[in-house]
Amino acid sequence: METESGADFFPDCNTGPGMDEQQQMHASNRPAEHITILLPGGLIAPEEMKAVIAVAARFDLSCYATTAQNLRLLGATRENLDEIKRMLKDSGFHLKEAGRFPKPKVCIGLPYCKLGLADTFALSKRILERFGNRSGVKPKWKIALSGCPACCTGSKLVDVGVVATRKGFDVFAGGKGGLQPKTGKRIARAVSEGEVVEMIGRLADYHAAHTGKKQRMFKLLGREDFPFPVEDGEGDAPAHR
Ligand code: SF4
Repeated sequence: METESGADFFPDCNTGPGMDEQQQMHASNRPAEHITILLPGGLIAPEEMKAVIAVAARFDLSCYATTAQNLRLLGATRENLDEIKRMLKDSGFHLKEAGRFPKPKVCIGLPYCKLGLADTFALSKRILERFGNRSGVKPKWKIALSGCPACCTGSKLVDVGVVATRKGFDVFAGGKGGLQPKTGKRIARAVSEGEVVEMIGRLADYHAAHTGKKQRMFKLLGREDFPFPVEDGEGDAPAHR
């Protein structure tokens, strides 16, 4: 529930590098285990929301909406962690676990955005229907889908980014945020939705074949056998409309 200052909802926000000894002790005593519920397209149905609220209320958890469009439950303990996970899985949720295929980050696109050129939720669904059950997927690569060149989901700042244009989809690879951000390079122009899905499959296979434990895609772009032509510097330019 929103409060006037937010202080009631976030009672421990004043923790951090500047906190005193007593505050540090208080922070370290708080239950710190957490569970991430993966939401396809960032969507959650009313019945699913009720199930999450019931679990959160029962175990006194906070619900944090992550930048990856997932829902993270904060404040579990080592003792109740397994029970919470079991209850969420019994409700049909996918939880963040090693080896899962990443859920694409999705802007609202058509028909919800007046600038939208593509139905991004439909594309996300198609990608997850094809690859969502893959196991053994190595970290770390992220996918983002944008319904127009405005790139609201940061499609040029993730490992595989898709941007709808008036001529089809442009595909970018090798972007990342974090400490040393990189802009993705364009690897395809004006391809169809079906071609986007095929490209994601080939990129997933390529990443798996050339990755030990974990690897961002930008490290693979320079290899001679990279499966798509990489445009030089094009990722910085706006995608053509
Ligand atoms: S990327 Fe384009 S279509 Fe998607 S939400 Fe932003 S402006 Fe709308």
